[in-house]
Amino acid sequence: MVPTHVYIVGAGFSLHAGLPLQAQFTRELLEKPPKKNLDITALTTYLGEFVHDVFDHDKAATAKFWPELEDVFTSIDLAANTGHHLGRCHAPSDLRMTRRVLLSRMMSMLHERFTTAEATKGHLWEKLDKFFMELDVNRSAFISMNWDTVIERRLSALHGMDDFDYGCEAVRSDFPAKGKAVVEHRLASGTHALSLVKMHGSVNWLYCDNCRQLYWFPPAKSSQVAKQLITRTEAKKLGLVPISDFARWHCKRCIDVQLTTQIATFSYLKALDFPMFERSWLSAEHLLRQAKSGYSLAIRSLQMTMNSSIFSSVFSCRVSIAPSSLSSQEERKSTLTLLTATIRGSSVGTSGVETMASKTSLHMVSRPRH
Ligand SMILES: [Zn+2]
Repeated sequence: MVPTHVYIVGAGFSLHAGLPLQAQFTRELLEKPPKKNLDITALTTYLGEFVHDVFDHDKAATAKFWPELEDVFTSIDLAANTGHHLGRCHAPSDLRMTRRVLLSRMMSMLHERFTTAEATKGHLWEKLDKFFMELDVNRSAFISMNWDTVIERRLSALHGMDDFDYGCEAVRSDFPAKGKAVVEHRLASGTHALSLVKMHGSVNWLYCDNCRQLYWFPPAKSSQVAKQLITRTEAKKLGLVPISDFARWHCKRCIDVQLTTQIATFSYLKALDFPMFERSWLSAEHLLRQAKSGYSLAIRSLQMTMNSSIFSSVFSCRVSIAPSSLSSQEERKSTLTLLTATIRGSSVGTSGVETMASKTSLHMVSRPRH
């Protein structure tokens, strides 16, 4: 069934599931775990030393005194991609390790925050569940700017869904009990796979640099993907145990090739020139062209996508905007200015997820099903 309603979501959506906005990422990355966790301590200590060497901040600096993550990623990418050192001690190969350590810590942090919020179920979590409960999964699709698996995990819990079409030819897979090659795990034909395009990658994806195959794994197993990013030599250097948990998985087709990840980070130089990202952008465009209504719950993401030539024509007359109640006045004002200039006939709401849930529900009921 062709999805008629497309939701565009950004960080504000995942905030409802306990995940941080970009501005809070550093604090969450560096926060000490409630239980003693040597792995997290090893990673944050390593990152603190990097920030000390390159930015001259204290090794134990709190998030308040860290540089912006965008500056950290951009510095690393600019130097590593052009073969330059960042200071005497950080050669390009070291910088690539630092980038992967940072990504790995971000992935595990997102998993920890979701798990904590799932256990406590605050009022934002309840709003999110209301949204998903009222969602017509057969006629809905998502375009997400986030790497997390909030959508997959809540749809699995509330609607029993465990198949997703990421729109980039990713293959449904799992980690085997024995051996190192991941296994494909296709469901029977006819199983409904909800369209979920993730513009910046996902924490449950692994990629083969040789054959370019992209695999996706059960969303709750993203911590295994996080461990894949760190080589065993690096794990030994960092004191992570057991070493056998790291860089463990290989491509099903190219048995000698370790799988890796491709995520478009906060970097100014977003690495979007990989085949799956090109496919994702085309799939997003396709979804929006087919949809009767698009609902954007992401102000910043909307601004980014509207600046893209691919989306500018598609958005016209099709998008309802529901800025999160957490957005600042400045963000609302700038978005409204942008809307006035570029979108005709769109409606602008005043609150986020909760409004969209009821509005969409009413909207769907009023339309004949087909
Ligand atoms: Zn391969």
